[in-house]
Amino acid sequence: MKKLYFCFILFLAPISGKLFSQTGSTFNFTNTGTSSAMDSAIDYSGQIWGQYLNSTVPIKVNVYYAFLGVGTTLAVTMPNGERDFPTAPLDSVWYPSCLANSMEGSELNPGEADMDIFVNNTVNWYFGLDAVCPAGKYDFVTVFLHEIGHGLGFLSLAKLQDTIGSFGHITTADISPLITSFPFPDLQGKYSIFSSYMENGSGQQLDDTLIFPNPSVVLGDEFVSNDLFFNAPLSFAQNGGAPVRIYAPTVYAPGSSMEHLNESTFPPSNPNTLMTPFSGMSEEHHTPGPLTIAILEDIGWNVNHDIGFENILSDLRMEIFPNPVQAEAFIRLDQSVQDEKMEIMDMMGKVVYVRTISVEQGAYYSIDLSALTGGIYTVRIKDGLFKLIKN
Ligand SMILES: [Zn+2]
Repeated sequence: MKKLYFCFILFLAPISGKLFSQTGSTFNFTNTGTSSAMDSAIDYSGQIWGQYLNSTVPIKVNVYYAFLGVGTTLAVTMPNGERDFPTAPLDSVWYPSCLANSMEGSELNPGEADMDIFVNNTVNWYFGLDAVCPAGKYDFVTVFLHEIGHGLGFLSLAKLQDTIGSFGHITTADISPLITSFPFPDLQGKYSIFSSYMENGSGQQLDDTLIFPNPSVVLGDEFVSNDLFFNAPLSFAQNGGAPVRIYAPTVYAPGSSMEHLNESTFPPSNPNTLMTPFSGMSEEHHTPGPLTIAILEDIGWNVNHDIGFENILSDLRMEIFPNPVQAEAFIRLDQSVQDEKMEIMDMMGKVVYVRTISVEQGAYYSIDLSALTGGIYTVRIKDGLFKLIKN
């Protein structure tokens, strides 16, 4: 059985600050209704995220262990936000407050949490830290890392009402009965930094109001097009030279559509699956994955590339050509590998090709892919992942 993550959004207003130079960041949690085992898992999750993101300003998180209904909701996150602060890279765009604070080097929202995370107390949770979740339980660290990811920037501010799509028109009525610990701002029809990088399969940006007035039916059509992408330089490169598929199913799922990586593109076997909308029982992912980190860097986070990345974000560079490939493909690596396993996975994450390769740096290595059916594949060598299209 799979359950839905449910995630919401909201935001606040500006003040001032400085620059920073620090490795990592600190999370300060204020927990309500939790057990000591849950507190430990919360702190552990903060330590994992804290390795990746540099900020001199602690990230403040309120956690509520509460009844969210008996059903499919695992947890709900409501991020605080800031816009038009002095160091904001873009004007009139909402940034998660913790990101704004990290850019400013000072606290723009004193006394307010950067995110409220509501965790459903009807779920059969596993609070262990070892990523060995027993059958029949949900791995809390996995879900909590996911929810923090929303507070760090995976939020679109999208809303679909009837057929009318909008950005920045979410109100307290939309999140009821939940209430945030911080004042709910007037979003004023502004986009989030995350949604400002969204485009459709034709490369039309969703924040282009000449094409997609906000709000409008044409914008709403895009929200259910199953054809939306996040397109920014670092994640584009990390994704093998392609925009990153966003979850935008033809039946709109409030709180899930527009807020996640596409489920089928990044299935549980994929290292970038953490920020997809569904999590199954005993599904464990205790790292954000290189693509999520690249997206966070794209929206403005100062990312720590020196700690915690050895086994996560590869420094291996690979060239595959031709791409798309018909039958024979050539790969070239920027370093020599000896008896290294190369795997090719389909879009469902199933390994469809395995070979042990040895190749000198810069030499071309030929592989016969004529047996593969047409589609998009991921080539994995060591911890490097590369996209391959087969015609
Ligand atoms: Zn989510």
